[in-house]
Amino acid sequence: MTKRSIKGRLEVISGSMFSGKSEELIRRIRRAELANLKITVFKHRFDDRVSIDFISTHNGDKLKAIAIDNPEDIKQFINEETQIIAIDEAQFFSPEIVRTILDLVEEGKKVIAAGLDLDFRGVPFGPIPPLLAIADRITKLYAVCMTCGNDAHYSQRLIDGRAAKFDDPIVLIGAQDVYQARCRDCFIIDKVGWKPMITSIA
Ligand code: ZN
Repeated sequence: MTKRSIKGRLEVISGSMFSGKSEELIRRIRRAELANLKITVFKHRFDDRVSIDFISTHNGDKLKAIAIDNPEDIKQFINEETQIIAIDEAQFFSPEIVRTILDLVEEGKKVIAAGLDLDFRGVPFGPIPPLLAIADRITKLYAVCMTCGNDAHYSQRLIDGRAAKFDDPIVLIGAQDVYQARCRDCFIIDKVGWKPMITSIA
């Protein structure tokens, strides 16, 4: 006898920059739309106003999303009819998003979250590690290493053409700041200050 599931589920799509996370998220959203499921799409925004924005991919595909800053805002845009909640750039949200997602899954919603699993220093990124741990399904995507062509799962930050240092600020005024996908062998970072971040959501 098969039991109908009452709770929802969590799918996490993770990987480096240029690994196709947003493409995969959009693919799953379009499949859900074809199946006439009620879906609401969110992405992170960097100030506290809510707005309508787009999830865009490196190959030019784009899809409308609600841009929010506070994970709690998700609840005001969904209702009991909502079946799927998709979240892009999940790494930028505060740790509270783990609690919010867990609540949604407990209420029977399917949540699909996409995000970078490592930052430019190679350190696990924000709320992604606990989301990976509680997910029902994980998809880790790989980019192509821009140095050697192997599978890449690191996002190499280059400042004025040189590998960024561990404690470089996130924003450097006046510097040419670019990112490349790199494999473990080609990824360069000084390990000063590296420690795995353990996040508590209690
Ligand atoms: Zn490489």
